[in-house]
Amino acid sequence: MSVEIRIDREKCMGSGNCSFWAPSTFDLDEEGIAVVVDPEGDSDEKIVLAAQGCPTQSISVWRDGEQLA
Ligand code: SF4
Repeated sequence: MSVEIRIDREKCMGSGNCSFWAPSTFDLDEEGIAVVVDPEGDSDEKIVLAAQGCPTQSISVWRDGEQLA
């Protein structure tokens, strides 16, 4: 089962860290703000690392209502 990824677009400052750690999951859109391109693009571990590496804590990762990051 894939994780649910939420991005707070108000907080994202477009650093691109998330797309560095999980490049098949995250990308920056034309506004330079992070979007999820595929919630199963990378392993859950990489997605969690990407969320933890966000400098503005804009990403949260959930599975079954439990917050993983
Ligand atoms: S790491 Fe955080 S601030 Fe940087 S682009 Fe991703 S969501 Fe935005």
